[in-house]
Amino acid sequence: MQSYLQVLKANRLKITPRRKAVIDIFIRCNYRLSPYDVRAKLRRKLSTIGLPTVYRILAELKNAGILAQSLSEDRQLRYALCTLPHQHHHHFSCRKCKKVEEVDFCNFKGISRFIENKLNAKVETHQLQIEGLCSKCK
Ligand SMILES: [Zn+2]
Ligand SMILES: [Zn+2]
Ligand SMILES: [Zn+2]
Repeated sequence: MQSYLQVLKANRLKITPRRKAVIDIFIRCNYRLSPYDVRAKLRRKLSTIGLPTVYRILAELKNAGILAQSLSEDRQLRYALCTLPHQHHHHFSCRKCKKVEEVDFCNFKGISRFIENKLNAKVETHQLQIEGLCSKCK
C-alpha cells in the first residue's frame, strides 16, 4: 500500500479515504473489476459513494499508473492493479477466471518501425489487450 500512496503523491493526488479504499480493494483482488464491482465492494465501507465518483477515482488511479484499464468482451471498462507503474509493460487477462497477470516484455518496436515506414508516420504510443486462458484455466 505504501508504494501506491507514494505514486498518488507523485501525481499530486491527495491521499483520501476513498482513494485508499479503492486501492485496497485491488490489492486484495488480483482479478479485473468493473466500476460496478468496485462500487459493490466499496459500499460495505463507504455506503454513500456513487458510481460517478467511482468512475472518477478509477480514472485518476489509471492516469497515475496504479490501475491498468482494459475493455471486456461486452465493451465495458475493467480495471486491475498495476505493480509496475514506472515500467513499460502489458497485462494478460484470463477470459475465464478474470485473473490479470503482468507481462514485462514488449517487442512492439518492430511493428512500430513497419508502421512508420509504411505510413511515413511517427508512432508515439500503443496499447495491447492480451487475453486468453491462464495456466489453471487452460
Ligand atoms: Zn501493470
Ligand atoms: Zn484463469
Ligand atoms: Zn508495449
